[in-house]
Amino acid sequence: MFIDTHCHFDFPAFTNNLNESINRLRQANIAGLIIPAVSVTHYETILQLANEHEEIYAALGLHPIYQHTETDLQQLTQIIEESPNKLVAIGEIGLDRYNLTVDWQQQLTFFRSQLSLAKRFNLPVLIHSRKTHDVMYHELHQANLPCRGVIHGFSGSYQQAMQFIKLGYYIGVGGVISYTRANKTRNAIAKLPLESLVLETDAPDMPLSGQQGQINRPENIVEVFKILSQLRSEPSSQILNEILTNTLTLFNRINKIKF
Ligand SMILES: [Zn+2]
Repeated sequence: MFIDTHCHFDFPAFTNNLNESINRLRQANIAGLIIPAVSVTHYETILQLANEHEEIYAALGLHPIYQHTETDLQQLTQIIEESPNKLVAIGEIGLDRYNLTVDWQQQLTFFRSQLSLAKRFNLPVLIHSRKTHDVMYHELHQANLPCRGVIHGFSGSYQQAMQFIKLGYYIGVGGVISYTRANKTRNAIAKLPLESLVLETDAPDMPLSGQQGQINRPENIVEVFKILSQLRSEPSSQILNEILTNTLTLFNRINKIKF
């Protein structure tokens, strides 16, 4: 049984053929999927998908590479206050120095505001960090969030991952590890404590190696898991169990709804 902790299932790649997309999820034994929002224009679709489909959960937030306004932040706050049934996290939020379409200072301001929301409402966060692991560590350390969160689509060194883990954060393992050239990340994921890992696809983005140019799908979580099992020394049944436990510990609202 798999839970995809980060899948943009609200994107047209899936919603254009929603019934088929849901059927494929079920056939692949995907018991849960968290949709992170990128901007307020997506909130309604995401909440509706979560309401209508048992395995879908919602995360709401303002993604760092898109422009947002103060009104967007107010709208986000208001929805979180209403505490929608299947809202399990705040995300996708973070910092991005690779894609500076949004001014750095503005990224920081929105990010910090959303960390405050996570603190106020006791929700975990889905973190996007690209070329920003140093400053991200500093920000998360300062914020001291009660529920912590996941460094999504982690790419980086063992030392960088361990810094986040020592703060209580989980590492989101995705398609990056299917690329043999991603040596540093593969070596890190092979050695990190198993109790700090969760799985994700980031579909429809981040295609696996050999599938470039194709739409990534949540069903590929099975493949990500297989590659993870090859990298790790533990038996795959143990990895599967521990990852599920990690996911339900971090996203404890899923646990309450589902089990
Ligand atoms: Zn994403």
